[in-house]
Amino acid sequence: MPLLKNKLAGVMIKTVSEACNLSCDYCYYSRCQGKPGNIRTMDLTMLERFIQEYFDVNQMYAPFVWQGGEPLLAGLDFFETVVKLQQKYKRERQVVQNMIQTNGTLITKRWAEFFKQHNFLVGVSLDGPKHLHDKRRVTANGQGSFDAVMRGIEELKASEVPFNILTVLHETNITSPKDMYAFIKEQNFTHVQFLPCMDFMSQHPDNLPRYHISDMEYGKFMSDIFDEWYNAGQPEVSIRFFENTLAAHMNQKQEFCQLNQHCPKMLVLEQNGEAYPCDFYIHPDYKLGHISEDRLEDIINHPTWAQFSTMKKNLPDQCQSCDFLTYCHGGCPRNRGSQHLQTTDYFCEGYKQIFRHSHERLEFLAEQLRKGDYQPSI
Ligand code: SF4
Ligand code: SF4
Repeated sequence: MPLLKNKLAGVMIKTVSEACNLSCDYCYYSRCQGKPGNIRTMDLTMLERFIQEYFDVNQMYAPFVWQGGEPLLAGLDFFETVVKLQQKYKRERQVVQNMIQTNGTLITKRWAEFFKQHNFLVGVSLDGPKHLHDKRRVTANGQGSFDAVMRGIEELKASEVPFNILTVLHETNITSPKDMYAFIKEQNFTHVQFLPCMDFMSQHPDNLPRYHISDMEYGKFMSDIFDEWYNAGQPEVSIRFFENTLAAHMNQKQEFCQLNQHCPKMLVLEQNGEAYPCDFYIHPDYKLGHISEDRLEDIINHPTWAQFSTMKKNLPDQCQSCDFLTYCHGGCPRNRGSQHLQTTDYFCEGYKQIFRHSHERLEFLAEQLRKGDYQPSI
């Protein structure tokens, strides 16, 4: 039997491009300010052709990540068609997986049942308890979205849909790690990731990024969360950053791209079919082609992608001599400021703070893991 192959780490589809029903002021992509207007989804003929090609290049494992804007604006009919197309072309023994990142406000019982039926993994954006979340994640008229998100989460729980929480860290919640962690426990959330807010637009990768929080604020927040998470050596919640760092303590690869040695080969497709190598670089300089005009093989082998991949590896001197290089591999090139990438990731000192703070306890967990006394959830 020929060896089955995967040429892509996955595909992320900007389902409705920038359209979103919320107007979070820190969004790095949507510019519609909570007024999505006419919703355009990917042309179904184009999508069908792409799925066939994708299943040819990823014969073993074919993950789809549906993102936006707000992908649920595409409507249930769109996703029912997607699933039918996937089933039509899926090969024997090929694993097809769907993940969707949503603001959670549009999840109804029907959506939750659909997600359950088709094994979708759902990521819900939630910035903490109501008094923190509602300050930033608002509708076009400034109304907080917390209650709508929690209604959506209740539907997911009722239908037993697996979900995780994505929390953006900004000026509003960065000083409240204890409240944030208490909220996670109170809600019985099992999988959480924290991402520091980056004030840039994917469509303008040449503009220097600005940030809502400092590197040290990030480091302090995550260190305080670590103390809560560690729970005397028996963590009960999966927190992505810590579990990736634990993987590094075990000499294993980190799955989170910013901490991994390489930017993964994750194809990003705009709603109109344009292809890019990363969600943070939706700009003509990084365009790899168009899925209705170019063969997927040619997109994958486009020289721009090879060039893009060198950015992460082109480490500044400080990283090359850093004790923590195997933990963060220089972070994310988008956070290195200029295109010349000779400064460290903006959050570098914060990373170091977390790595130092967690070192001994993660070493202990790694030892427990080797002995089979602890099982992390990633
Ligand atoms: S540029 Fe940053 S966000 Fe994009 S794939 Fe690389 S590490 Fe990840
Ligand atoms: S901690 Fe800072 S200096 Fe060290 S590898 Fe990471 S980004 Fe580079």
